[in-house]
Amino acid sequence: MSDKQRDIIVVGGGLAGLLAVIRACELGGHVKLFSLVPCKRSHSVCAQGGVNAAANTMGEDDHPDLHTFDTLKSGEFINDQILVQEMTAAAPGLIYLFDRMGVPFSRTPEGNLAFRRFGGTLHHRTAHAGASTGQQLLYALDEQVRRYEAEGKVHRYEFWDMIEIVKDDDGTCRGIIAQNLKTMEMVPFPGDAVILATGGYGLVFGKSTCSQVVTGSASAVAYRAGAHMCNPEFVQVHPTAIPGEDKLRLMSESARGEGGRVWVPKKPNDPRPGKQIPEEERFYFLEEKYPRYGNLVPRDVATREIFQRYLEGLGVFGKPQAYLDLSHLDAAYTRKKLGAILEIYEKFVGENPTEVPMRIFPGVHYTMGGLWASYKANSLKRLDWDAPVNQMTNIPGLYACGEADWQYHGANRLGANSLLSCPFGGKVAAQAALAYQKGLKTHAEDVSKALFDKALTRCKQLEDNIKSNRGGENPYKLHQELGELMTKNCTVIRDNKSLGETVTKLDDIQRRVENCEIPDAGAYANHGVTFTRWLRGMVDLAKACAHSALKRDEFRGAHYKPEFELKQPAGLVPKEYWVWLDINRPAEYKDNYHDWFDKVDQSQRKRWLFHADYDEFKAKVQKQGFKPEIEEYFKKLTAHNKKWNKPTIAAYKNGNPEISYSEVKMELMPPMPRKYD
Ligand SMILES: Cc1cc2nc3c(=O)[nH]c(=O)nc-3n(C[C@H](O)[C@H](O)[C@H](O)COP(=O)(O)OP(=O)(O)OC[C@H]3O[C@@H](n4cnc5c(N)ncnc54)[C@H](O)[C@@H]3O)c2cc1C
Repeated sequence: MSDKQRDIIVVGGGLAGLLAVIRACELGGHVKLFSLVPCKRSHSVCAQGGVNAAANTMGEDDHPDLHTFDTLKSGEFINDQILVQEMTAAAPGLIYLFDRMGVPFSRTPEGNLAFRRFGGTLHHRTAHAGASTGQQLLYALDEQVRRYEAEGKVHRYEFWDMIEIVKDDDGTCRGIIAQNLKTMEMVPFPGDAVILATGGYGLVFGKSTCSQVVTGSASAVAYRAGAHMCNPEFVQVHPTAIPGEDKLRLMSESARGEGGRVWVPKKPNDPRPGKQIPEEERFYFLEEKYPRYGNLVPRDVATREIFQRYLEGLGVFGKPQAYLDLSHLDAAYTRKKLGAILEIYEKFVGENPTEVPMRIFPGVHYTMGGLWASYKANSLKRLDWDAPVNQMTNIPGLYACGEADWQYHGANRLGANSLLSCPFGGKVAAQAALAYQKGLKTHAEDVSKALFDKALTRCKQLEDNIKSNRGGENPYKLHQELGELMTKNCTVIRDNKSLGETVTKLDDIQRRVENCEIPDAGAYANHGVTFTRWLRGMVDLAKACAHSALKRDEFRGAHYKPEFELKQPAGLVPKEYWVWLDINRPAEYKDNYHDWFDKVDQSQRKRWLFHADYDEFKAKVQKQGFKPEIEEYFKKLTAHNKKWNKPTIAAYKNGNPEISYSEVKMELMPPMPRKYD
């Protein structure tokens, strides 16, 4: 073996990527870091409201177990439980680490870290730096990476596009081909392991709250190379985006966390400006329908409610909009806590949110699905941190973390959990990649150069084809068409007829992508070439999403098909479901839970049951018995989950996704019905 320095490759300079770099360097690794944009301009910089950690500094008896429970419940139990538990346990430590790195977190008057409320929890659990948390975190991590760069452990490639995964004859990932977006030079980069921390694919939906590079380009490249996508149908539509002609901009959940109220005028097409509509003529529908969580129900719930009001004719001035009102709060307080996002609203709408209610509507925001990745737990049901398979895709040596992976958020992400799962996943991925590198018998440097030459030739051919194509299709217009189609049929409310039509139309769009013609054949910074390549990838991901959504005949989290909704009976108490399972031990759950009821950690279960003693609770429920309609619902739910509580796997086959289902490991707790009123 040679004594050459052996690199691992990290693609992505957002929060997930930078923490992966830091962890790899801490463990003695050397990293090549790639990003489409300067790392400090990665999409993470846009994150506003905060990052979750059950640090329990607010005297609310919060605990990481409750954070685990809220995350699983919000994701409707299609997330990996062990990983969620490990993430929530690590969360307070990560916040203190960021604090030490110099992130200017907001504080209480006593000087403690301040935590605000966010959706889907009843606790103040969200650490924040005003309303520019992502920027503060990203800048702090970037500083740390610079330190390692100065020590020669990191080589940074900004304005580079990862365009191909290089696999050897055994199907093992051995490196990448990347393109310099200024000179358009394509270069092979061998690497012992490749970590994709490349974000989500919001741009598949055209207008979204995401940055303009969030096309999922790297995921699409990996998907074509044989990496599986998992749960691509689960797409988060944020309830409160600011409508815009060019793109949507987010009005963060922190606005509601600080006291913002959502309402619509009770009178359809009310012509009066919001401020002039008296209190009794306003419909505070979230507060009325969900008295416990109010304006802070999970995102999928809030989004459906706002959407529904519009369908009922209760928009604002007849438009698809609702009010998000901060104008009743003290203006100085609101400025202090939310200044950064108020400025965005003022800049793009021209109104002062401390004086008049803001106008918002749901918009595509986040992708819960992503590249399939694995993990290994030990006998104590904790993550085995040194297992090389953690965060590894089905391609050996290829890792995914951050918004690019699928494991943490299930069917609906809890607000402020991404700024947690990204650095956490990055850390796990780097540690695993280094363990993998250590165990390699042959390293990237031993791999035949011909392998990289072949991949390079493929990339050049594709670029030549794009440049010489005279098919007449405009890639930017085609992207707009794709976005409109996906937004119309694959977002808030889905039905099989529209999804079927979407699948057919996507075939047509896919054919037309092959006819894209760009006016500029220039050899310098040719964005037309880059965008056309990204568009191909976006269509692949759109197909994975639409096919998976069509096949999933149920209602789970953000995937709402009303036709298949299991209606919850009146008087349902969700936690009674566990007692019902315990008493009945239905055959459907034989493998999963029969053991659980006997062996579960009692103190954990107590917390999941909101501090109730399980045996006492069980005795009480048993004594009162189950109403027939509740029992009927529990039976249906059990059979339903047996069939559908399974992550979707999409494998790329000749331009189409081949759909199958895997198992979600429910090692901590059985599912529970979701209910937030
Ligand atoms: C407006 C907004 C506000 C948000 N606020 C919050 C919040 O308050 N709390 C929260 O938890 N979440 C929030 N989110 C979600 C959160 O910001 C993202 O999920 C998270 O930042 C994603 O981080 P990441 O590291 O996975 O990817 P990103 O930050 O998207 O970084 C991806 C990186 O990969 C690089 N890359 C991508 N493709 C390629 C390629 N082909 N070649 C080379 N490099 C590539 C990019 O250049 C970039 O460096 C918000 C999202 C939005 C849209």
